[in-house]
Amino acid sequence: MNSDCLFCKIISKELPASIVFENDDIIIFNDINPRKPIHWLVVPKVHIENLNELSDKVLAGELLTIISTLAKEHGFAEQGYRVLINNKGDGGQEVDHLHLHILAGAPVGPIVCP
Ligand code: AMP
Ligand code: ZN
Repeated sequence: MNSDCLFCKIISKELPASIVFENDDIIIFNDINPRKPIHWLVVPKVHIENLNELSDKVLAGELLTIISTLAKEHGFAEQGYRVLINNKGDGGQEVDHLHLHILAGAPVGPIVCP
């Protein structure tokens, strides 16, 4: 828990979010500014700032396998979806708590960078 961190405050329920899934290790909630019909943020509950700080292989696996499971349960696995991690400054990361974006429900097109 980092008391200055927006996502830690969502995890501790200090701030509200539209929660899609939660277990002991992971919370998934809707992005407040969705870019596609489905736009989730998959967030480890432990405060890990970015991918450079991720060393827990079990957690890394859990973050990906829960996406695979929920994509099937929510019916967008077959149509397809994008998983995106913005990492630090050049990666466009705005919230410094590791999170995976899930974009689904409409074609996301090619990767576009300004
Ligand atoms: P990133 O640029 O990868 O750090 O993405 C941060 C994401 O967090 C953006 O897509 C924001 O729209 C989203 N976001 C910011 N504040 C909130 C919030 N309170 N609840 C849900 N999503 C948020
Ligand atoms: Zn945090």
